[in-house]
Amino acid sequence: MPELPEVQALVDFLQGRLAGLAVVGVELGSISVLKTFNPPPQALLGAPVTGVSRHGKFVDIDCGGTHLVFHLARAGWLRWSDALPQTVIRPGKSPIALRVRLDDGSGFDLTEAGTKKRLAAYIVHDVSEVPGIVSLGPDPLADAFTEAAFADLLAGQRVQVKGLLRNQSVIAGIGNAYSDEILHVAKLSPFALAASLDAETVARLYAALRVTLTQAVAAASGKPAAELKDAKRAGMRVHGRTGEVCPECGDLVREVSFADSSLQYCATCQTGGKPLADRRTSKFLK
Ligand SMILES: [Zn+2]
Repeated sequence: MPELPEVQALVDFLQGRLAGLAVVGVELGSISVLKTFNPPPQALLGAPVTGVSRHGKFVDIDCGGTHLVFHLARAGWLRWSDALPQTVIRPGKSPIALRVRLDDGSGFDLTEAGTKKRLAAYIVHDVSEVPGIVSLGPDPLADAFTEAAFADLLAGQRVQVKGLLRNQSVIAGIGNAYSDEILHVAKLSPFALAASLDAETVARLYAALRVTLTQAVAAASGKPAAELKDAKRAGMRVHGRTGEVCPECGDLVREVSFADSSLQYCATCQTGGKPLADRRTSKFLK
């Protein structure tokens, strides 16, 4: 799933490609991808794109006051084409969820792999009409996101820090991958309770969050859409690296699996050498 750094790079990429061009066609490969009914897709046509921006993990393309907003979810991606095929996509017959054509023949497809379709697009006059945007917490790279502001967010939260970092209504833009990375850099257990962290640990976690995201944004910046997925994977220290060697200490990266996701961590670096309980492993051991 693209997270803040990849979405920011996509936004920068689209800004460079779309500026001054007008949308001349919007085709839906899946009716369910579009979550709004009014204004209709035709409202995007004709006016030059005036800006592309990011809200958490949402991309917002402003077509002269009508916004096309989308969220790629877990298995969605954007595929850019300098010359889109002329064939019109038909609902239900394509892995393409949405196709956008521009007036110079270029354009992009939003695609989604897998059977769970979660990719979501919205056409609105005001981005605050998108429920997932209006409920977003602060952006962790904004100037206002200071260590004091972060400490305020954690205070009183009797939840595991891993879940809190991923909660979009607390902090916008961090998902499963970067929360693993941030916790590894901070040398903190994913299961630590947010409210119980002392000031020194909060400071370490804040520094880890800012440096991890800033470096990832820099690494993704300027890359074309097609290269972002591989670049994200290549930059990971522990996420998605179960059984590989921790780059800090040489221990093996471990995993805790859940119903539909998993987290990776290093026991030596993050949990005092004690492996975390894994429901799946414990079941086998019974
Ligand atoms: Zn380690």
